[in-house]
Amino acid sequence: MRRVPEPFKIKMVEPLKVVSREEREEALKRAGYNLFALRADEVYIDLLTDSGTGAMSDNQWAGLMLGDEAYSGSRNFYNLAKAVKDIFGYEYTIPTHQGRGAEQVLFPILIKKPGQYVISNMHFDTTKAHVEISGGRAVNMVHEKAFDTTTYDPFKGDFDLEKTEAFIKEQGAENIAFILITITCNSAGGQPVSMANIKAVSELGKKYGIRVFIDAARYAENAYFIKTREEGYADKSIKEIIKEMFSYAEGFTMSAKKDAIVNIGGILGIKEDKDLYTQASSRTVPMEGFVTYGGLAGRDMEALARGLYEGIDFNYLDYRINQVAYLGERLREAGIPIQYPTGGHAVFVDAKKICPHIPFHQFPAQALGNELYLESGVRGVEVGSFLLGRDPETGEPLESPLELLRLTIPRRVYTYDHMDVVAEGLIAVKERAHTLKGLEFTYEPKILRHFTARLKPVE
Ligand SMILES: *Cc1c(COP(=O)(O)O)cnc(C)c1O
Repeated sequence: MRRVPEPFKIKMVEPLKVVSREEREEALKRAGYNLFALRADEVYIDLLTDSGTGAMSDNQWAGLMLGDEAYSGSRNFYNLAKAVKDIFGYEYTIPTHQGRGAEQVLFPILIKKPGQYVISNMHFDTTKAHVEISGGRAVNMVHEKAFDTTTYDPFKGDFDLEKTEAFIKEQGAENIAFILITITCNSAGGQPVSMANIKAVSELGKKYGIRVFIDAARYAENAYFIKTREEGYADKSIKEIIKEMFSYAEGFTMSAKKDAIVNIGGILGIKEDKDLYTQASSRTVPMEGFVTYGGLAGRDMEALARGLYEGIDFNYLDYRINQVAYLGERLREAGIPIQYPTGGHAVFVDAKKICPHIPFHQFPAQALGNELYLESGVRGVEVGSFLLGRDPETGEPLESPLELLRLTIPRRVYTYDHMDVVAEGLIAVKERAHTLKGLEFTYEPKILRHFTARLKPVE
């Protein structure tokens, strides 16, 4: 198993609080057996999300001191726009408060009439929400291979091109608002999309006159996978690969809280369409802020401009992707089923296989996540039937095709030793998995229940 050393040294540390087993039991009970309701300082290693949780570099922190907080025309905005032009080759940059800010600005411009479809390999949840708020309908066209967790495939985030074209023909191109390529495919486990697939989707768009955009949250991780897995790209630099990927789209929305390694921020990038930029600008002012700050402080834009470059450094990406793979391999060696190969930002543990005795409506992945917290103070997150919720019409509990415990790795935050703690905790839990109990609600909110629901173990 390849262990790529950290390409940085540590200059400042944040102490981790060691929480005793008794304190964890108390905390979990108080939290209603819902890991979202824990206080962060009750957690030892926090793998809830990789969003906004990365560690900024000394260079980014230094950039904060150079914040130009002018309402209009901040120098940091120009640094950001210059970085976007340099890395993506795009003419127009609109900063936004985070990824969903870019979505709320762009989508209503593209969705011209209610009921139009937006086609993605797989929509992220806020992305789907913004499509729907704008009157559109979100459809996922990810290839079948994404759902086969055990068979190796280098690009499980790919679109199913035949299915996509058939859908366009069936619905008529005029009923498709746009195509959104999500790289990497977050909801399918951070799985990458190949250059060949991105290009083919772009050609489909051209053929039918449908606009193509990129959801770019983990674009740098995607470029790393193309370089290391796709024929013809081994000798290209990450930057060259990024340029090519983005040449196939006319704009992107980006959550900068992922690959740009900042704690807050987003970007709407537009390749060259001045008219689209003008329309987007006039929506940005009332929704996000004036177009040269879009809800960010000048200092945030400076950290973002610098983070963009750090996030595309090959040595950083080599370490980053391999740290995630290292955790995955340790689990696989111990016979713990995970989604394979690991994606860019997380290891997804197949809880249905570990706890076959817990039915879907008692949330096996949540039970597994709670036990891992009790065992070693590690917080993961359930991605399964608990997250999925109920059928809005019948109120029946919906069964997710997969019951996953997601262990999401923040960028530049934890070491390989921390990964060992996570692996050893889960291995210990697996030994007694047959004794774990399912969960039932004591309070179940109607929408987005997983954030605030309260549970208890089934007796
Ligand atoms: C995080 C994310 C978003 C939303 O970005 P926020 O910064 O959280 O608003 C959109 N798409 C993908 C693929 C994401 O991972």
